[in-house]
Amino acid sequence: MRLTKIIATLGPASTEPRALAALLRAGTDVARLNLSHGTHAGHARVVRRLRRAAAEAGRTVAILVDLQGRKARIGRLVQPLRLAPGDTVTLTHRDLAGRPGLVPTTHRSLADDVGPGDPILLDDGRIELRVMGTRRGDVRCRVVSGGTLLEHKGINLPTATLRGPSLTAKDKDDLDFALRQRVDYIALSFVRGGEDIDHVRAHLARRRQSVPLIAKLELQAAVDRLDEILEKADGVMVARGDLGVEVPLERVPVLQKEILYRANRAGVLVVTATQMLESMIEQPLPTRAEASDVANAIFDGTDAVMLSAETASGRHPARAVAVMDRIIREAEKSGFRSAGQAEAQPGPDWAVHAVAHAARDAARQAEARAIVVFTETGSTARILSKLKPPCPILALSQHEAVRRRMALYRGVAPLSVTRSRGTERMLAEGDREVLRRGHLRRGQRVVVVAGTSSRAGATNFMKIHRLGEKV
Ligand code: PEP
Repeated sequence: MRLTKIIATLGPASTEPRALAALLRAGTDVARLNLSHGTHAGHARVVRRLRRAAAEAGRTVAILVDLQGRKARIGRLVQPLRLAPGDTVTLTHRDLAGRPGLVPTTHRSLADDVGPGDPILLDDGRIELRVMGTRRGDVRCRVVSGGTLLEHKGINLPTATLRGPSLTAKDKDDLDFALRQRVDYIALSFVRGGEDIDHVRAHLARRRQSVPLIAKLELQAAVDRLDEILEKADGVMVARGDLGVEVPLERVPVLQKEILYRANRAGVLVVTATQMLESMIEQPLPTRAEASDVANAIFDGTDAVMLSAETASGRHPARAVAVMDRIIREAEKSGFRSAGQAEAQPGPDWAVHAVAHAARDAARQAEARAIVVFTETGSTARILSKLKPPCPILALSQHEAVRRRMALYRGVAPLSVTRSRGTERMLAEGDREVLRRGHLRRGQRVVVVAGTSSRAGATNFMKIHRLGEKV
């Protein structure tokens, strides 16, 4: 079994039923819907198709919805604009179609957020402007590096502090859409600090909902306040696309290692994202450097790796997943592990942590084939996963939503179990399900983790056991 999980972003290249089925066959564990693009009706159709494809394939697949956040963008343009070094151009929040010298932006407070000398980067940093001055909502700039500007391209402001609410009006609308679709994860773009996560949780609480939140780390401010983000978020994403524009490019590998180390130490889910197999947008095979990049994220302890344009709009979506799957398996088989990988520290649920720790150590000594865990909320499976045992974790839950959430946990295979009274019956039922799914054979040694009550947080024992033997 592959341990590290694969997130595939869905888009025009992958939303037809056959393409979705191929993505799942190739090994997609989590499907990401990027709400920066498309309509609610279109995304709802994709959710329906994906759930049907997963049911037909007998797979548990989670859905992650990615909110656009405070992404500043260029507005409409009459035609693509050619910007040459030395040109002057005015960015405005006025609602007009852009023409040479005057370009609209969706970022209403741009003139308040920047000042003379600040850089403004367009289209992932391909075009660089320098602010000359601001006046009545307009920002006059000089072009430093030129290029052809298309409408709706992104704007990055590496030296400015982004003001404004944690959730834009569009994000609130998208969040409510995501709740109606009962998605499994919500990713928040351009998180600045812990308060952004608090605000989203408060919005969810007002709707009596709770969905795990993944903070995308793509601003220097987020890196500066990583500890408080790790305390409040369920997961973090090294969002290298925007991060590599907001901070100098050469900082990205260093920050990636630091984020992986600190997230693992905090026991928080961590995803490595963007341009992992970028050349596969066009080509049927990745470069050697890309293969190494994926493998190194595995050696450094990422829980999941993510494909973006490769699966959303590329020419070989399923193949990109299959190639990623092969690279991960080979990296995991090698047993390499970066010397600096951190061990997850116990959190408030220290008792569950203690049992999970004991199970991990027992699995090592007993050379167990798997750890079988009974879990109400998925929390015990997540804690075990972050302790990185040497074998897969077969996680049994009676709740479908919990099983889908666990699809993102490293090393965890979610399995279904019906509620049974008494520990003995529960363990026997777990054995039957593990054997029925063909994961393991009768007589093989496993470590079982469970609680003597089926309440959430009640995990209180571990047991070394041979599958199929009476308990
Ligand atoms: C990123 O910037 O790396 C990222 C994952 O976000 P998005 O794809 O929304 O730009």
